[in-house]
Amino acid sequence: LNKVDILGVEFDYTTQQEILSILQEKIKRNKKAFIVTANPEIVMYANKDPQYMHILQFANHIIADGIGVILGSKIVRKPLPERIAGFDLMVELLSIANQEGLRVFFLGAKEQTLEQMIPKIKRDYPKLVIAGYHHGFFKGQEHKVNEMVKEAKADLVFVALGFPKQEEWIQKNLDSFEKGIFMGIGGSFDILAG
Ligand code: UDP
Repeated sequence: LNKVDILGVEFDYTTQQEILSILQEKIKRNKKAFIVTANPEIVMYANKDPQYMHILQFANHIIADGIGVILGSKIVRKPLPERIAGFDLMVELLSIANQEGLRVFFLGAKEQTLEQMIPKIKRDYPKLVIAGYHHGFFKGQEHKVNEMVKEAKADLVFVALGFPKQEEWIQKNLDSFEKGIFMGIGGSFDILAG
């Protein structure tokens, strides 16, 4: 995929359909990938925090989440084809997981949010395998959470810790996992629980 640099952040030149087929292919081959759905807030934050910018450089795919990123790409005269909302990408991946019986891990949000969300996932995506879930307030228990995710051997791991925490967690832990598509997803679990 071609990349488009906006203020130092390298976005994938891709449509939602295209990135979904790339990810499906990676899942089929048991590959690992770190996905960031970046909005203008994330681009601005990375420009103020070199450590976060450094973390973003480990991402395999940075997706343009937000019309502000599309506008930015027009300003640098490399217009990106379309906006891909992180939430929409997650929902599409859940549908694929349901069709193909993939294993999915949900990390993040409050325990109560997960208690509301998990039954809805089971209802709406009955053929998806829930490989595990854990709330996102696990200070002091990082090792336990890492082990849980490792043992779950999920095809998809959605990380809803908000930015920059979710990207920090993924980058820090990615080496210890064998496979899986790891994607920071912000407040999406709260929406799914709603
Ligand atoms: N969250 C979490 N652990 C934390 C901080 C936040 O699990 O230490 C969760 C929070 O419950 C919410 C999600 O992260 O479900 C996203 O939070 P927020 O809306 O602040 O992030 P954004 O969408 O702006 O990235």
